[in-house]
Amino acid sequence: MPHRNPPDPGGPLRRVPSTAVVITFALVMTACVLGVMAWKALDAKKAALASGSSEIQNLAHSLAEHASHTLQAVDIAMAGMVDLLKYRDPEPDRFNKYLAETAKTLPQLRGIGVADAKGNWGYSSFPQNPRHNVSDRSYFAYHRDTPDNTLRISELMQSRIDDRSSMIVLSKRITKLDGSFGGVVAAAIDKDYFDGFYRTFQLGPDGGISLIRNDGTLLIRWPLSDKSTDLSRTDLFSRHLKLSSVGCYKIVSPFDGIAKYFGYEETPHYPAIVTVAVSEDWMLADWRKTLRTDVIVGSVLLCMILLLAALLALQFRFRSKTERVLREREAHYRLLANNIADIIILIDARSLLRYVSRSAEPVLGLRPKDLLGKSCFDLVHPGDRESVKSATARLNGVDCVSTVIFRHYRGDGTLAWVESKFKLASEPSAPARTEFLCVIRDVTERKRMEDELTQLNRRLTQLAATDGLTSLTNRRTFDGFLRREYEFCEEIAVLLFDIDNFKGYNDTYGHQAGDRCLQAVAKAIGDATANTSGLSARYGGEEFAVVLPNTTEDAALKVAESIRLTVRALGIPNTASSRGYITISAGVAAKNRSTLDEAALVGEADTALYEAKRLGRNRSIVYSSLDLQYVESASIQHDGELAPGEQTQQ
Ligand code: GH3
Ligand code: MG
Ligand code: MG
Repeated sequence: MPHRNPPDPGGPLRRVPSTAVVITFALVMTACVLGVMAWKALDAKKAALASGSSEIQNLAHSLAEHASHTLQAVDIAMAGMVDLLKYRDPEPDRFNKYLAETAKTLPQLRGIGVADAKGNWGYSSFPQNPRHNVSDRSYFAYHRDTPDNTLRISELMQSRIDDRSSMIVLSKRITKLDGSFGGVVAAAIDKDYFDGFYRTFQLGPDGGISLIRNDGTLLIRWPLSDKSTDLSRTDLFSRHLKLSSVGCYKIVSPFDGIAKYFGYEETPHYPAIVTVAVSEDWMLADWRKTLRTDVIVGSVLLCMILLLAALLALQFRFRSKTERVLREREAHYRLLANNIADIIILIDARSLLRYVSRSAEPVLGLRPKDLLGKSCFDLVHPGDRESVKSATARLNGVDCVSTVIFRHYRGDGTLAWVESKFKLASEPSAPARTEFLCVIRDVTERKRMEDELTQLNRRLTQLAATDGLTSLTNRRTFDGFLRREYEFCEEIAVLLFDIDNFKGYNDTYGHQAGDRCLQAVAKAIGDATANTSGLSARYGGEEFAVVLPNTTEDAALKVAESIRLTVRALGIPNTASSRGYITISAGVAAKNRSTLDEAALVGEADTALYEAKRLGRNRSIVYSSLDLQYVESASIQHDGELAPGEQTQQ
């Protein structure tokens, strides 16, 4: 049954903002920045237009003043002349000279003259009076027909005296003392005079300055026009001038169709209006330049914000993906840790338990919450604590695993055998923060089976090496032992024993009695080598062998005799033997310079045993004492009671 793990709010994994949040934040930021930029730009545009309008109006005012002064100077000069001519006709030369002086003094004047009541020039500032008649000119007709003494400003007209550029004629009526019409004083102002002045102002490619008569007749329009135009139906006259003599407004120019700001002002004292026009584009040129720079800087900043947001979003996405994977992995690990048969624990540098998987309860009957914070050695059997400590001390790298089997107390106080694999859970470079991961497995049952198996194996080994009847080591073990000892020992002796007349004993007392007899004799022989470096073995049938390392021939003979006498002393009756008791014969041989190997040594002991039999049994014979030639011939002549062939075959 899998355990459901509660979420770990204090854990290292906290949720990070999602990509959508970052993108939304970036977009809101972008919208805010764009909004602020747009608001600032509109504000700056408004300010630029307001400032431009103000400049236009100021200029219109200055130009109106200029126009007024220009007209006024001429008006004053002409007023004096009109007064003079009202009373008398001055002497021509002197008056002409006066007129020439006046024209010279006033730079705006091209010329000044006096026409009589019929329209013929009577006086003029020119060297010679013009000969043409001006009675057809509008200004002449106006003064002739209108008893008005104020200054009249003509429309733009062409001179009849020369071919120079257009001009404006300022005129005043001469009224004689009797009230009759006495002619006209007329002064010509060059259009160029105004043009020259107006051109000094920077108004942009579509800008312009106009001087307009108050009936709507366009007098001067710099830089374009060279003829009078009627503007009386424009907004200026139909609307704005009716509201105020000074002002500024936006229109689409009737001349070129471009949106422009118009500043206007009526000249003081004279029936004329000055307008200044500047295109909206030109007014906003600086603003556009600043706006372009702001847009570039803002765009770069926005791009950087968006780029950072994108990087942040990618980072968050990567992080949340990694965290999700980590969470899943941790959940898997917890699931595994809590459900596998092994117990997983985490131990800190002070040997305190930091984490214990839930499997501790089913495996050892220990609740994890009861173990947390306790020493990991508390429940280890005191006799095994050192081996556990040394297992952790052996760890010298994160890949190193140290395994130890020890006894661990269960929840109910009983002991369990556990196998524990220790591993470093952190880098060993910081000992104060070292943590160990430990996987514990209950191996009580396995240990029991292993112990049983070990005992079984030991028993099997023992059985394989032991003779079943006599419990002495068997022939194979004897051969191995002799081979090893013969190699290492300078001195070594082999004793061979054979029970005398045992066949007859078997026949007389039965086979089972024979077995018991064999066991009794084997015990006597085994006791002789117990707690020594020697070895006793059942060599076969009713024959026994003894190996005595580091033993001389004499000492070996003494041992053989001691055994023989011990067997005799057992007093086992044997009616098949002439002596009436069980006896044994012994052959003794010790390693000497001429002994070839261990097999040869056994062969010598066998020869000695044969000799002991031949000489009447119940005795010990040393091989070195034998007269070999005699033994040889005796063996050939033997009557069969003790055939040499029988001895060697065993
Ligand atoms: P000798 O004095 O010349 O040795 O005469 P012997 O009768 O002992 O002659 P031999 O060595 O030929 O006889 C050996 C006998 O030992 C033959 C066999 O029945 C008996 N024997 C061999 N192994 C066992 C055994 O395990 N149990 C019993 N009861 N008898 C055995
Ligand atoms: Mg025998
Ligand atoms: Mg025998």
